[in-house]
Amino acid sequence: MTTPCGTPNGIHPPSADVLVVGGGLAGLYLARRMAATHSGSILVVEAGPDAGHGHLRWEHDREKADRIWLDPASDPYFRRPYHPTATGFDGISGLRGRLGGRALYWGGVALPIEPWALADGSWPAEVVADLTMPRNGEPPLYDSVVADLEKWAGGPLCAGRGFELGGRRFTEVPRAVLAEEGSPRWRAWSPLEDLHDPARPGAVSVRCDLQVVAVVTGPDGTARGVLVEHDGERTVIGAGRVVLAAGTVENSRLVLQALPPDGATGTASLPGLVDKLAQGFVTAFAPAAVPEQLRPFAEAGGLFMAPGPAGSRSNLFLRVYTNDHGLTVVDCYLMGEQTRDPSGRVWCEPGPELPWPTFAAGHVGEADRRLAGDQRRELRRMHQLLGGQANTTAAPLVFEDGFGSADLAGRITAGDSMQVPGQPVTYSFPLGWEQHEAGTLPLGGAVVDERAQVRAVPGLYVCGPATFPRTGAANPALTVLALAARLAGELTGARR
Ligand SMILES: Cc1cc2nc3c(=O)[nH]c(=O)nc-3n(C[C@H](O)[C@H](O)[C@H](O)COP(=O)(O)OP(=O)(O)OC[C@H]3O[C@@H](n4cnc5c(N)ncnc54)[C@H](O)[C@@H]3O)c2cc1C
Repeated sequence: MTTPCGTPNGIHPPSADVLVVGGGLAGLYLARRMAATHSGSILVVEAGPDAGHGHLRWEHDREKADRIWLDPASDPYFRRPYHPTATGFDGISGLRGRLGGRALYWGGVALPIEPWALADGSWPAEVVADLTMPRNGEPPLYDSVVADLEKWAGGPLCAGRGFELGGRRFTEVPRAVLAEEGSPRWRAWSPLEDLHDPARPGAVSVRCDLQVVAVVTGPDGTARGVLVEHDGERTVIGAGRVVLAAGTVENSRLVLQALPPDGATGTASLPGLVDKLAQGFVTAFAPAAVPEQLRPFAEAGGLFMAPGPAGSRSNLFLRVYTNDHGLTVVDCYLMGEQTRDPSGRVWCEPGPELPWPTFAAGHVGEADRRLAGDQRRELRRMHQLLGGQANTTAAPLVFEDGFGSADLAGRITAGDSMQVPGQPVTYSFPLGWEQHEAGTLPLGGAVVDERAQVRAVPGLYVCGPATFPRTGAANPALTVLALAARLAGELTGARR
C-alpha cells in the first residue's frame, strides 16, 4: 500500500517544518489550507493505512454501510486507543484508523455552532469573531469553509426546501454530499478529495502506518518533533511545529504526556469531555397516510431541521424516506448540547512506558437529565402531531428508563424493516456513540491558548473538537474545519 505521495509505508523524512498528527477531517484540511500559502514542508502522519479514499456510503450499500458504522467488529479500521470506564465512550465510540479517518464516514451535515453557545463568553471573543465576522475584506471562516464545500458540491449545500409543522419551520439540512444518479448511494466531502493543491502538488506529504507515540520536547520544553512507531520500531521525526489532529482522546493523551510533570493541569487528567445528547423515534406511514408536509419528500427522501424547543439547547431533525416495503419512514430526533462537567474526562496513568494507558469517562449530570427530559417531551409532541396530520392512531412512544440504548443499532435501523405503519421505536445514543466527543482542551482555557497552542509546550498546537469550549447543538465538523482554517492562518502567518 502506498500513500498518495507514492512513498512506502512507514518510511518518513527526518523532519518537517510543520508536522500534523492524524490524517482525518481536521488534520488533512489543515494541511490543505496551509499548503495554499506556506512555502515550508508540511507532513501529515497517520496511524492507519491508506485504504482507499472512497466514502463509506459510496463504497457500500445501505445495509453494509450501516453495519460498518454500527458494528465496529465489522470495520477492520475501527480502533479505540483508550479504555472506556462503564460510563459511555464504549460500543461504536472510537476512531476509524485509516487515512481520511471519520471524514470517510461522516454524514456531511455542516452546521455552525449556534449564537447562543458561541456568545455566552465560553468561547474567546476573537475566535468567535474569526468564525462569524468578515475581517480585512475576507469572509468569516464559517463562510470560507462553506465556500470550499460548495465548490466541491458544485452548488449550495441545500436546495432551500422546507415546511411548517407544529409551529416550527423545518428547513433542509445543509450537507456536503453528492448522490449517485438513480442510486441510493451518496458520498460526503472529504479533505482527501482535494488534498493536493494543483498549483503546489508536492506541498503536503502524507505518511501512513505511523503511530505517533509521543510529542518530543527540547530541554526548554518546546515541541521539537514526534516519536513514531512502525512495525514495532520507533524513530523520531523532527518538526518546527507539531499540530495534534488525532481526535479528542488521542489529542488529550498526547498533550498530557507532553506537559511538564507539574504542568498546567497538575495531574494527568483533562476534564470537560462531552458528546451530544441525542434521542428520537422511528415510525412508518402507509403512502396514503403520509403527513401532507412530508409527502413531497417521501419518494426521494430528505433531512430537515428546526431549532428545538426554547431552552432545550437541541436541534430537531426529521428524516424521511421510503423503505423496501413501500412505507414512508420518519426518523425524528433531537441532538442537544451536553453540559461540561469535571466528571466527564480523559486521563492517563503516567509511567515509564509510552504511550501511557488512557481512559475516557462520560458523565450524564442533572442538567443533562433535564435536557433529555425536554427532548422526550418534544418527541412525544412531534409523534402526536405526525399521527394527527396523518389521521392515524399510533401506538404511544415508550422510552427506556435510562439514557442510552444498548441495542441502538437495531432501534435506529428499525425503519428499514417496518412493514406495519404506526409502531414507533424509540432510541437514545449512549454517551460517546454520537462521535461528537469534544471539550478536553478548550481554546482559551488553562492548557490551550486562544491560538490553539499548548501554553506549557510552545510549538505544540491542537486542532479538532477537543478545542471546543462548548459545543452547542450543532454537529461539529463545520466548526472543526473552520478552526483548522484558522490555525492554518496562524501557522503560515496569514491570519488576519
Ligand atoms: C458515521 C459518522 C457520521 C458522522 N456524521 C457527521 C456529520 O454529518 N456532521 C458532523 O459534523 N460530524 C459528523 N461526524 C463526526 C465527525 O466525523 C468527527 O467530528 C470528525 O471526523 C472529527 O475530526 P478529527 O479530525 O478530530 O477526527 P478523525 O476524523 O477521526 O481523524 C483522526 C485521525 O487521527 C488518526 N490518529 C489517531 N491517533 C493517532 C496517532 N497516535 N498517530 C497518528 N494518527 C493518529 C486516526 O487514525 C484518524 O485518521 C460523524 C461521525 C461518524 C463516525
